[in-house]
Amino acid sequence: MVLPKQVKIVEVGPRDGLQNETQILSADDKVRLIDQLSLSGFKAIEIGSFVRPDRIPPLADTEQVAQRIQRLPGINYSALVPNAKGLARAKVAGLQSVAIFMSATNAHNLKNTNRTTAQALAMYPELVQQALAEGMQVRAYLSTVFGCPYEGEVKPQQVLPLVQQLLAMGVYEVSLGDTIGVSNPLAVQRTLEYLLEHVAADKLALHFHDTRGTALANVLAGLQMGITTFDAAIGGLGGCPYAPGAAGNVSTEDLVYMLHGMDIATGIDLDRLVSINHYLSERFQRRLMSRYALTRPGLRI
Ligand code: ZN
Repeated sequence: MVLPKQVKIVEVGPRDGLQNETQILSADDKVRLIDQLSLSGFKAIEIGSFVRPDRIPPLADTEQVAQRIQRLPGINYSALVPNAKGLARAKVAGLQSVAIFMSATNAHNLKNTNRTTAQALAMYPELVQQALAEGMQVRAYLSTVFGCPYEGEVKPQQVLPLVQQLLAMGVYEVSLGDTIGVSNPLAVQRTLEYLLEHVAADKLALHFHDTRGTALANVLAGLQMGITTFDAAIGGLGGCPYAPGAAGNVSTEDLVYMLHGMDIATGIDLDRLVSINHYLSERFQRRLMSRYALTRPGLRI
């Protein structure tokens, strides 16, 4: 088995995680969370979202959070921006990195953003150009790559042109999302085999949700295909809007535990992650979905 020696983990808990939690964290707690994540060794942390505050109330205070966190050198702090207004807010907040997002399927994109995939592809080039002109880096999320709650199966032939168009706009990476956590290692392998005939592995990241318990297995399939960037959320935050009580994103603690055990470096301090997990568990008054953290109940650092 040929595996990479080093992997980059993009911590999406403060955004993708918290946006799907019913309980809202205070700005103080978010700042504390992000500052602790910064000290854990991540090179990329997604801190929030500049969508309309009434659409995602848990992230309505992203400006405030962005201005109050302690930004450490060498860390890419980013936030989601859906449009020019969101980009302007990201600029005011002093962010140097933003992410655009769309779905691989039209029905999900319509439901999620009120526009078709064609409309998204038509409006994003200008937005990306504006961001690049501001000196920002731009990442793209492509959701429902491995399955859609409305359209079902998604074929890689449907995904490739979207990935190519996003890259052509100037985004540095496209994160391929299993948004509803329906994929499996063989499907991940097949999708990547197709995409990698046309796109370099370092232009792709993988974003797995653990809704049905397949996320880490899917990561392994991605590693075997040469992918070296993975999104994850501390404590497996994120839930699933279609399945109350279900797991969310792949837990960062479990991912780091697995990678380190396989001699794959991440630069991340696992004990510190467990400590953050305990802090968040207290805030949420429930155990968060990390198997590894459950094995370290007493750890405090
Ligand atoms: Zn996600």
